[in-house]
Amino acid sequence: MKLVLIGAPAAGKGTQAARLVKHYGIAHISTGDMLREEVAKGTELGNQAKTIMAEGGLVSDELIIAIVQERIKQDDCKNGFILDGFPRTVVQAEKLEEMVALDKVVYIYAPDEVMLERLTARQTCPKCGATYNKLFLPPKKEGICDTCNEALTQRKDDTVEAGKNRIATFHKQSKPLVGFYGDKGILIEVDGTMPIDDITKAIIAGLDA
Ligand code: AMP
Repeated sequence: MKLVLIGAPAAGKGTQAARLVKHYGIAHISTGDMLREEVAKGTELGNQAKTIMAEGGLVSDELIIAIVQERIKQDDCKNGFILDGFPRTVVQAEKLEEMVALDKVVYIYAPDEVMLERLTARQTCPKCGATYNKLFLPPKKEGICDTCNEALTQRKDDTVEAGKNRIATFHKQSKPLVGFYGDKGILIEVDGTMPIDDITKAIIAGLDA
């Protein structure tokens, strides 16, 4: 199964991807996580991406396409994969078409104000990458990861200012993907304001239909 998850920042892509990966036994490819790793390691690629990411813009199509092209060749992708955060532009989607035949594309939608409120309340575990949200998915102990006992941190781009830019970037650059995949008849649209379990059920029902 080869899937793409699209949605504005904090629409719930990462949370749903983690659940779908378990359900279908496929690989999770988050381009945002891959880039954050490069930034943390201080590689040349990370240094190129750092400022753009902090401001809420997009790294170049060329760069991200090259990363994905290599990643999907790896062994864990043989059974399939979920691309979370890629493609983000029509150019990326066209390149992806040349690489693989997608089964389905899931679009998780929610109003801008909901996403902005959510992203500023988001917390991440620096060790295992688990994501929490003070509003609707709090850790058992405030500020501490349930699994690792590690202190949770906030992403540098989960501020109001960067968040607004990221949402604007989504509308300008990524929203056209809804039409792109809709025209191909492989798009499933799911309401991202529903409870997390209901979103998962709606996605699985759409994928298994
Ligand atoms: P995410 O974790 O998916 O919200 O991604 C974090 C940031 O990484 C984005 O705001 C972009 O700056 C960058 N990024 C991730 N995926 C892509 C992509 N497919 N194209 C361009 N930039 C990306």
